[in-house]
Amino acid sequence: MAVSRRELLKASAATALGGLLAMGCNVQPAQQRAQELRIKDAKAVPSVCPYCAVGCGTVVHAIDGRIVNIEGDVRSPINQGNLCPKGAAIYQLHVNPNRATKVLHRAPGATQWEVWDLNKAMDRVAELVKKTRDETFVEKTADGRVLNQTLAIFSLGGATMDNEWNHLQQKLMRGLGVVAIENQARI
Ligand code: SF4
Repeated sequence: MAVSRRELLKASAATALGGLLAMGCNVQPAQQRAQELRIKDAKAVPSVCPYCAVGCGTVVHAIDGRIVNIEGDVRSPINQGNLCPKGAAIYQLHVNPNRATKVLHRAPGATQWEVWDLNKAMDRVAELVKKTRDETFVEKTADGRVLNQTLAIFSLGGATMDNEWNHLQQKLMRGLGVVAIENQARI
């Protein structure tokens, strides 16, 4: 009989738990103790998942200003304590040694990444946006109707951008004549 990976994992977990329970082990205190230790003495702050427009409520636990845990807020009428897999990983958005903290630039044809100063990178982005807009901006159609647009620039925001940032971004883009404006949280 073919057994899927999911069925095998489920069976293994059930067998292990069943074995412990059959031996008279009560696993609940251990689970509660592990949870208690992690957020013991932590300050709990209500917040909202930054990832999508659903707006699930979260509780952020911090000790001495350092985040130690983030979980779903059971008081939220939206998610009632649940978080989707992306929301359940919010902690790693804040605490993650793999997170890129420097601008990396790879020149055309180069094989190595180069660390760039943020201001230099921002200037380069502005320079390219202006150049592209200048080269592709269309003021009017052939029959004289006003367009004021460029189809050569596309703005795609990430879901961790908040409402305020998105509002400013779309104002800037529309001011430049960009019509392709989207955000991952809305897709
Ligand atoms: S990403 Fe997931 S957890 Fe976050 S708000 Fe959206 S549905 Fe909720």
